[in-house]
Amino acid sequence: MKPLSDAILNSQKSAIRKLFELLIKSSDGISFGIGQPDFTSPDFVNDEIIKALKEHKTQYAPALGLPTLRRVVAQKFQNENNMKWVETENVMITNGGSQALQLCFATLSNPGDEMILSSPNFLSYIYLASYYHLKLVEVPRLENYAPDLESIRQSITPKTKFIMINSPNNPTGYVYSKKQMDKLVQIILENDLYLVSDEVYEKFLYNDHIHISPASYDEMAERTLTLNALSKTFGATGLRLGYVSANKKIIGMMEKYGQYTTAGVNHPTQYGAIEALMKGNPDMPQILQSYNKKRLFSLKRLKELQFDTIEPFGAFYIMPRLNPKWNMTSEIFSNELVKEEHVACVPGNGFGSYSNNSLRISYATSDELLEEGFNRIERFLKKKSLI
Ligand code: PLP
Repeated sequence: MKPLSDAILNSQKSAIRKLFELLIKSSDGISFGIGQPDFTSPDFVNDEIIKALKEHKTQYAPALGLPTLRRVVAQKFQNENNMKWVETENVMITNGGSQALQLCFATLSNPGDEMILSSPNFLSYIYLASYYHLKLVEVPRLENYAPDLESIRQSITPKTKFIMINSPNNPTGYVYSKKQMDKLVQIILENDLYLVSDEVYEKFLYNDHIHISPASYDEMAERTLTLNALSKTFGATGLRLGYVSANKKIIGMMEKYGQYTTAGVNHPTQYGAIEALMKGNPDMPQILQSYNKKRLFSLKRLKELQFDTIEPFGAFYIMPRLNPKWNMTSEIFSNELVKEEHVACVPGNGFGSYSNNSLRISYATSDELLEEGFNRIERFLKKKSLI
């Protein structure tokens, strides 16, 4: 038979999914691998979805999303992200942040274009680059996981089309500072590039760190594609509701692409999203307080266990490096840990070419499981005489 798509055939099955398959086999498994919060969507959101279903809102919604929801998203971008230029016509509703990302890649890319990414970074960017025949240019992060903006500048070629950023970041928890964002904006403008900004973790910030949307800079309005979703902020990963803003020409292209690929987003869910985005998540202060406690606990335990650990200030991940004395790759470490102690952490090589010696730990789990998981990691390290 003739060959199938190389790009899809050669992409790895998600490292996170593989890990779950291993963990499912044990009854006492603890997952530090999960990329979702440990809370679920609020009732005031769910009730609107149920109401819409009862009113039989089960036919196609417009390809761009419900006009009311698009208007609410535009207001959200204006008020919360200081993106004063955004109007309803600059917004499209998507099937989660994932489809928003796909639309960004689809509308920006021609085969052979280059995309620059700080590495490690969210896995989907790497495979989307390959599915859209982009050349991926990975620029390693600095020791403290800050983006290496000077190296990014030097990596730009005439073929560079866009830079992809995600702040707060999955997997490192790194948050761009104002100074770094200023510099990135300068690089984008000087080189006539586009910027894709994935802001799905914007609400998960600690220690007075703030979120800056690059599209809040007036001169970036035309060239920034900003995506977000209900998934993380509202504990709604299964609702599959995301949104993206861009200039009107790009949104028009996204509409066409959406018409022929997904033909719109779940109709009743969009009514829930209107409520969600108008009211925000009222539980966020308590959630952040509890996540901050988990973050500090994880940091303390990792240091005690002699990992090389960098304090994250955003999202709900921490990415320690294995102690070089242990002489182990993160893939071997996480495989043995899951088999021997039934604790799943995602090996760093799932996030790019520069994190083979790191693990991603999600601390979005209960305090009890977090404590027990770290106790098991301690037992594992002691058994192997590593500490
Ligand atoms: N962007 C980042 C950085 C993520 O971590 C995720 C999910 O883990 C997504 C986008 C996708 O979000 P969604 O579940 O809304 O498709």
